[in-house]
Amino acid sequence: MENTNEMQVIFESRSSNESFARVTVAAFMTSLNPTVEEVSDVKTAVSEAVTNAIIHGYENEVHNIYIRCRTEGKTLFLEIKDEGKGIEDISQAMEPLFTSKPELERSGMGFSFMEAFMDKLEVISEPGQGTVVKMEKTIGKGRRIWTTQSL
Ligand code: ATP
Ligand code: MG
Repeated sequence: MENTNEMQVIFESRSSNESFARVTVAAFMTSLNPTVEEVSDVKTAVSEAVTNAIIHGYENEVHNIYIRCRTEGKTLFLEIKDEGKGIEDISQAMEPLFTSKPELERSGMGFSFMEAFMDKLEVISEPGQGTVVKMEKTIGKGRRIWTTQSL
């Protein structure tokens, strides 16, 4: 198909790689000509998903995190995958304020942020197998273009 592009990165689940992941996705999406706010929304969502893979999926052991990023027209498709411990009850995990690690002062808002900042969020997970977070965002939706005709 015309007008599509794709990239994949694999990196180790170290918290020092969170900013690498964010910036890599941000760089990839620049071809969609996003606003500063749209880039910042996507970076927040990537951060939350990568942090979850590091602290919940792998519980701070170092293993691989996989990011797959695709653009189709003006839409960005993102997949962030770990092969960690997985999630037993996905709908409970996605509830605002639910956290399995209150002792770490987690607020349980990661999935809520991903949902708020992206257009679509889907979580696929199997205990003992790992987790894939799929997200979508169409760029340029809320942009207002003024022309003399619209005045
Ligand atoms: P916060 O993101 O606000 O710091 P949190 O990470 O606990 O807190 P969410 O990001 O919303 O909150 O995640 C909710 C819960 O879902 C987590 O507490 C954890 O139990 C589970 N979870 C999320 N991502 C993963 C993952 N990749 N692997 C295993 N469990 C996960
Ligand atoms: Mg989180």
